[in-house]
Amino acid sequence: MKRMVFAAALAAFCLANPLKAQEAALPDTGRQANWSIAIHGGAGTIVRDRLTEERRVQYEQALQIALDAGSEVLSQGGSAVEAVKAAVVLLEDNPLFNAGRGSVYTWDATIEMDASIMDGRDRSAGAVASVDTIRNPILLADEVRTQSEHVFLAGDGAEQFAQARGIETAPADYFETEGRRESLERLKAEKTSSIEVDYKFGTVGAVALDQNGDLAAATSTGGMTGKRWGRVGDSPVIGAGTYADNRSCAVSATGWGEYFIRVGVAHEICTRIRLQRYGAGNDTVTSVSVDQAQAIADDVMAEVKNLGGDGGTILVTSNGDALYSFNTAGMYRGRANSDGMNEVAIFGGERQADESNTPDH
Ligand code: ASP
Repeated sequence: MKRMVFAAALAAFCLANPLKAQEAALPDTGRQANWSIAIHGGAGTIVRDRLTEERRVQYEQALQIALDAGSEVLSQGGSAVEAVKAAVVLLEDNPLFNAGRGSVYTWDATIEMDASIMDGRDRSAGAVASVDTIRNPILLADEVRTQSEHVFLAGDGAEQFAQARGIETAPADYFETEGRRESLERLKAEKTSSIEVDYKFGTVGAVALDQNGDLAAATSTGGMTGKRWGRVGDSPVIGAGTYADNRSCAVSATGWGEYFIRVGVAHEICTRIRLQRYGAGNDTVTSVSVDQAQAIADDVMAEVKNLGGDGGTILVTSNGDALYSFNTAGMYRGRANSDGMNEVAIFGGERQADESNTPDH
């Protein structure tokens, strides 16, 4: 009887409030924003003493331009995939970052770039490794995703595929920068590691949620200074440096790639969020709060740290929460959403949400 009274009351309420009724019928997924985006340009020992005021402003401007490009796509109703591409292409074009133009040098003083992209709608993914003529490796990765039956192409084969698809290339000197060459020379002269000479990882990435509720992630890098023997890091490895799944989140990482591959960072974060959202089955959806998502990302980054790795991640959840988690002193980063959030930051503790970063610096 009680049930019948409730059903009648609900029907009357729905007739009087058609919009509210529709909202009430939706599962409570806790979606916060219509669209949301986060970007990064690498993490590392980025402290105030190390950056001149001029350099800091250059980085902030570059991040803001990329963030705005991605936000524009999303606010116009474009897809998350288009938004992450728009942001990453601009970061690849900027020699401040270690991706596309400005990539670091290999041991043999060549450039070898890696990139990957993933669409959370259908988990279609594309990745390329060790390409050396592709102006924007992220566009080639997306071409692999959409125009081939493969996920991951490497080296000469990837270059041949690019040629067949008419992907834009650039001569070797387009990618090269004086500062990166000096880093390689120092690394060899001082017999030290890339972390010592670069003090930061300059990989770039973007993650987004669009107005349709679809997620995407993209990452692009030159790798690590002095790499040899065809070394490939986490950035083009789906599940390590990049992952997107509409059921949970989109992640892009930067850091010491070997550790991110071993932990499977991007997939691990998404899986933990998905299991929290759905429990054992796929029928009940529980909202994952911003604090829960932050704790999950921090936990996974703590695992990286425990193994000896450094770096950071950005993520956007299916709720639209855009988060960072890094175990380094700083990370070039930014985020924006349909509710008016719009910020770029460099140093640790610069923003409120940073307070829950893995406490290790
Ligand atoms: N994760 C990249 C790699 O290991 C480096 C970076 O983040 O800058 O190749």
